[in-house]
Amino acid sequence: MRTYSKDIKKEEGKEVILKGWVNSRRDHGKLIFIDLRDKEGLVQIVFSPEHAEALKKADTLRPEWVVEIKGVSVKRPEKLINTEMPSGTHEIQATSLEIYAESKTPPFDVTTDGKEIGEEHRMKYRYLDLRRPRMQENLRMRANIEKLIRDTFTEDGFFEVETPYISKSTPEGARDYLVPARLHPGKFYALPQSPQQYKQLLMVAGFEKYFQIVRCFRDEDTRGDRQPEFTQLDVEISFTDQEEILALIQKTCLTVAKTLYPEKHISTLDENGNVPRMTYKEATKTYNTDRPDIRKDKNDPNELAFVFVVDFPVFEWKESEKRWDAVHHPFTMPQVKDIEDFEKQFKKDPSAMLAFQYDIVLNGYEIAGGSIRIHDPNLLSRVFEVMGNKKEDIKDKFGHILEAFEYGVPPHGGFAMGLDRFVAILQNESTIREVFAFPKTGDGRDLLMNSPSDVSDTQLKELHIKTNK
Ligand code: ASP
Repeated sequence: MRTYSKDIKKEEGKEVILKGWVNSRRDHGKLIFIDLRDKEGLVQIVFSPEHAEALKKADTLRPEWVVEIKGVSVKRPEKLINTEMPSGTHEIQATSLEIYAESKTPPFDVTTDGKEIGEEHRMKYRYLDLRRPRMQENLRMRANIEKLIRDTFTEDGFFEVETPYISKSTPEGARDYLVPARLHPGKFYALPQSPQQYKQLLMVAGFEKYFQIVRCFRDEDTRGDRQPEFTQLDVEISFTDQEEILALIQKTCLTVAKTLYPEKHISTLDENGNVPRMTYKEATKTYNTDRPDIRKDKNDPNELAFVFVVDFPVFEWKESEKRWDAVHHPFTMPQVKDIEDFEKQFKKDPSAMLAFQYDIVLNGYEIAGGSIRIHDPNLLSRVFEVMGNKKEDIKDKFGHILEAFEYGVPPHGGFAMGLDRFVAILQNESTIREVFAFPKTGDGRDLLMNSPSDVSDTQLKELHIKTNK
């Protein structure tokens, strides 16, 4: 049976089998030392003349070769203990060596933190870049965060429902990725910018407490630290209100931070342990942004400054299209008593109408946001209308949800969290690309797989597509 590097202490005095990559090699006269790397870390292997054949083979080893080593786990003398390595109290005295695979000299060092290497170079050889401890740790912590979220939501009576990726356009304000429908010439699916409408339909369907760790797709222009596909923790609840949802967002953020990052300190909690709140108006007036960074010390990598921003306006004027648009999305509930009150407030000043909409900001980044939804189909149609949609377009684009709302829709609301950003902040990474296994460049290229790429004429023909390059 195979032993992992971290477990060699438990096997003291016994013969073990280890497998992994040669992290480094040092020759010390008659002895050869290897640091062997497996998914749990490093372990020191010693080859000595006592096992001449293994020693001779070890002499050929180079970094990143893949090997199997048999040997005895022994305790190191006190003064040779390596405190940097979790396995460092012990080492393996090799008795035999098998080489599974040789490796070309890697294009860069995979044992450093990689910050000295150009990012495009790292992306091209991502499978090597991911070998470095920093990247292993980022992805491992990401998995731990996702597991903790799944566990706490499941304990709280939520369950995860998968929604389609090949779907219809949803209005989150970005451009859609389109997928040609081969069986329906000239028609297209859209990859979801978020599962917004599906999760609302799940509320109509009676699930009441939904969550999903889900991929979202937005074809945005190259700006800032964005990825064409990214991951959200997506949540929706029936019979809820803003207070319940804010409490859930807070619980999610604090559980992750306190359980998995005990070394971090949350600097903004009030005397009751709650995340403070600020209205959109206060935030934009005092900080000139709706994502205020309220850290006390911006040089402290372990400070987490959470703040809620609430009471966003419902509408903003879109000068380029000369129409009112939703600040969040059109399903967001305005703070109105009823449809008459809506008309009254809209007539007076559309920009002054507030929404049951909220964000949570962490160190100046919006990490989650959501809203209570409009569940009255008449009010929802009216909102689509004042946003400049024609009656027939409303039916075409949103008829399905308006119709669903005529069959017993519970009041509902929810939020979505940008998991990539949350993980990046917790891992002290400055870009979300560092917490993706296979990220794309700022302009959407995958340098490893070399995409986007040309496709064959046959493929295009099957899809009824003519390109116009
Ligand atoms: N679907 C929204 C978004 O992606 C979040 C929500 O309102 O739940 O921003």
